[in-house]
Amino acid sequence: MNREFLSVDNMPFCGGCGHRTVAQSLEKALGRMKDLNPLDVVVVTDIGCIGIIDKQFKTHTVHGLHGRSTALAAGISMGLSEENKKVITLIGDGGATIGLQHVIEAAQRNIDMTVIVHNNMLYGMTGGQPSGLTPCGFKTPIMPEGKPMRGHDLCKLVHAAGAPYARRLIAIGDFSDVIEEALKIKGFSFIEAMEICPSYGLKYNPTRKLHEIAEEAGLEIKLWENKIGQRDDNSYRHVTINSLFDEIQPLEVNFKSDFRGRYSLLLSGSAGEGVQSAAELLSKAVISCGLSATKKGTYPVTVGVGFSTSEVIISSDPILFTGISSPDAVIVVSKDGLNKVKSSVSEMRQGFLYIDSDLNAPETKAKILSSDFRKPFGAKSAALLALLLFLSREKLIPVEALSEQVKASGIGKKIDIEKLLSCLKD
Ligand code: SF4
Repeated sequence: MNREFLSVDNMPFCGGCGHRTVAQSLEKALGRMKDLNPLDVVVVTDIGCIGIIDKQFKTHTVHGLHGRSTALAAGISMGLSEENKKVITLIGDGGATIGLQHVIEAAQRNIDMTVIVHNNMLYGMTGGQPSGLTPCGFKTPIMPEGKPMRGHDLCKLVHAAGAPYARRLIAIGDFSDVIEEALKIKGFSFIEAMEICPSYGLKYNPTRKLHEIAEEAGLEIKLWENKIGQRDDNSYRHVTINSLFDEIQPLEVNFKSDFRGRYSLLLSGSAGEGVQSAAELLSKAVISCGLSATKKGTYPVTVGVGFSTSEVIISSDPILFTGISSPDAVIVVSKDGLNKVKSSVSEMRQGFLYIDSDLNAPETKAKILSSDFRKPFGAKSAALLALLLFLSREKLIPVEALSEQVKASGIGKKIDIEKLLSCLKD
């Protein structure tokens, strides 16, 4: 098996960037761990210059929101059941500042993972703003006079939180032996690699050397260990849960469908009126017919007001892309829902618009089918009733497949599905 973990050619960094040096040492360290293969490794990154390294890796990679990679990696680590897997977070000092709580919590819980903070003392990707780790006096484009207060000593913080291994190093030359040591720790290990960003840091601090900057800031280049934090049980993750997937119950295939191909549906209504749960029940019903389904919800952060829209894809083949460019059908059950999808509906060149009869359909080339969704049993049943009417007409799957899912769910106790089904006979 090819044991190349990442390609160090054509790195996406500026010339002289320390991120390249860390990546080279990481590749060497991984390569020396003989029992480890690329797909035994999960590399988690987020926003920042270091985050664009993902495509260089031959391992699993996950890319998250700014500062959240440690939290994501912690979740991944806790969900893994095999002890030989390695979860590695690569994060910048900006991301580590934003996600400081995540780093501290992961250290405190001794989660089996390695966090490498690329501390070049500024936010490189966004133009060189100082981060929480920027030392006092270090100059950046927006603080050319130097940062007025000292930065956090992240190694000391994670050490105080209980991390078995925390090490600060100067990211020059080959330090693969240190990374290998950190990767072999049972539990949480942490490396802070001090770098200087040639594009912003070096420009504003041209005469300063990394060793001097660290020394002046009181940032010791050393290893902090917590013997007490080392665990024989190989970390928290194996104590609490075997695999997150163990919790998921497979859906049984009880119905048949002759549908072949891919069908995309947009269900749009108001928050709090059961749009998301109706779409989820439809997806389960689709799977209970031996087909594939995906469901993606969109709603405002204030989840109790405004629109609620759900995209459902139905396919006879595995779904490898979950986006919808132009839906085959749009179902609109409320005014909020209409406002949200009006432009998508106007752009439809074909397909169907199922719309509540109290609403005015926008100009569209989709075929418009108007029905009472809200009147018969109220707003809370509108999305489900609309889906039942849709299925009875389009016949993608049997209506019974959806009604069975409703009965098996908690919604079946609140909504009389038989009454809803009686509307299909009219
Ligand atoms: S901007 Fe700075 S941190 Fe970003 S790639 Fe360039 S040198 Fe590296």
